[in-house]
Amino acid sequence: MADALPHSLFNGIIVPTDEVRISPFDRGFLFGDGIYEVVPVYGGKPLRLDAHFDRLQDGLVALEIANPYLRARWTELVHELIAANDGGDMGVYLEVSRGTGKGRDFLPEPEMRPTVFGFCFRLAAPKPEALQQGIAAATLEDIRWQRCDIKSVALVGPVMLKIEAKRRGADEAILVRGERLAEGSSSAVFVVKGGRVATPPASHERLPSITRLVVGDVLDALKLPLDVREVHCDELLAADEIWIASSTREALPVTRLDGNAVGEGKPGPVWRRAFDEFQALKQREAG
Ligand code: PLP
Repeated sequence: MADALPHSLFNGIIVPTDEVRISPFDRGFLFGDGIYEVVPVYGGKPLRLDAHFDRLQDGLVALEIANPYLRARWTELVHELIAANDGGDMGVYLEVSRGTGKGRDFLPEPEMRPTVFGFCFRLAAPKPEALQQGIAAATLEDIRWQRCDIKSVALVGPVMLKIEAKRRGADEAILVRGERLAEGSSSAVFVVKGGRVATPPASHERLPSITRLVVGDVLDALKLPLDVREVHCDELLAADEIWIASSTREALPVTRLDGNAVGEGKPGPVWRRAFDEFQALKQREAG
């Protein structure tokens, strides 16, 4: 992720990023007690903003944190933040923590006022080598908690997994729970075999990825069926293609898994079609 851009959102106002000050007694800091979102923006226009707000709302409901703003206000604030940072292609990070307490009680104090922080970073186009050669992934056992559907800011599990993946020379960790594919450490995962694309269903084991929905629409547009079903680990090894998808990386081909070639060891033809259609969809919806 690139550096933060000069203007941020802090409790309802746009301020210089350098001037944001959050208390050490903020529960986001002490407990990871908060929800976040990352929204991709192309040409100054956010992609699927409402889907991101829906997921933010679901996370806040799950944590019993009152959403500080109505949807219309959120929308205004995100657009103000994008404009303050001169638009273009960027990612917008939004975080709502439960707020700042008087000390460090596990139980929240009654009627806390949530802390809202948002910043932007430049969204780099996918690296040419990632598109030409694909990326490497390592399979790792999913050590995270049992509510991975909540986009909680408590991310130490994925941090540990990313460090281990890097140690193994991989760009992403593909997480498994026993014999089943869970998801990437920060991505949804798709497998392709014999021209059919499959991805695991929504569950507490995985984040309801917005990019996964976008890829679903891309496949629809291409009239390619998408099988939403549990994926066995053996299918990863036998796949013709594996893709990861996320708001900051779009859909990327994984061509090496645990040091072995995936399919022919280069980005596959189904990914290529999906990638081109993804670019067209971006152009239509946000470009
Ligand atoms: N799964 C996890 C664990 C993630 O952290 C992410 C994104 O950060 C995703 C999936 C992809 O979600 P989205 O497509 O909404 O970015």
